[in-house]
Amino acid sequence: MLLQIDKISKTYQESESVIHAVDDVSLQISAGEFIAIQGPSGCGKSTLLLSAGGLLKPDTGKVTVIGRDPYSMTPDDRAEFRAETIGFVFQQFHLVPYLTVLENILSPAMATKQNPGVRDRAGQLLERFGLTERTGHVPSKLSSGERQRVAMARALLNQPKLLLADEPTGNLDQENAEIVLNCLAEFASEGGGVLLVTHDDRAVAHAHRAIHLLAGKVITPVMSK
Ligand code: ADP
Repeated sequence: MLLQIDKISKTYQESESVIHAVDDVSLQISAGEFIAIQGPSGCGKSTLLLSAGGLLKPDTGKVTVIGRDPYSMTPDDRAEFRAETIGFVFQQFHLVPYLTVLENILSPAMATKQNPGVRDRAGQLLERFGLTERTGHVPSKLSSGERQRVAMARALLNQPKLLLADEPTGNLDQENAEIVLNCLAEFASEGGGVLLVTHDDRAVAHAHRAIHLLAGKVITPVMSK
């Protein structure tokens, strides 16, 4: 199993009230699986994804990524483990504004101890995502589609086992959305695991199965005739 989430819950305290962002959610992703998490804004999708990725510790429950609990590690070990095993893609790209395209793509290599052949791999990723002409540009000079392609290349640099994507097509035109979704599907077809958070039905169509969240809980949708 690449990712195992067992009965995790996460609450936020907002002034007087407690928000149950994720409420007793379990799911599993095995090698080659592409799973979409679907649901309306505010239902807990991002919180679930961050918890799955070792970025936000749930209050209760357990997260296991390739057999290890990231929250039982020291912060440094967790950061290194994340960089080696998980690629992240976000709606807002989260590129480093003062680094070039190539430097952004190479940035996950800094978090790992050794990564032979990483420069060659960055070159291959630049080519694969049609970014060769943009190598020395900073993100502000790029289109949204180019920025997300840089983020995809960065996510793939360390040859992770899991890709976690939070609304990666939310700011993209149809053509670039297809590039990103096809890339996620290809990653799963090569034995990786994908967790895609989205409210876009076109994106869900690329996944093997969808899990529906409502108010922090997994629900079984009522099928319309
Ligand atoms: P989604 O990704 O489905 O839009 P989120 O996981 O972002 O849902 O949010 C789930 C709920 O938790 C929402 O009610 C949101 O307002 C709340 N929430 C998310 N992050 C925080 C935070 N850092 N502090 C307080 N409340 C938060």
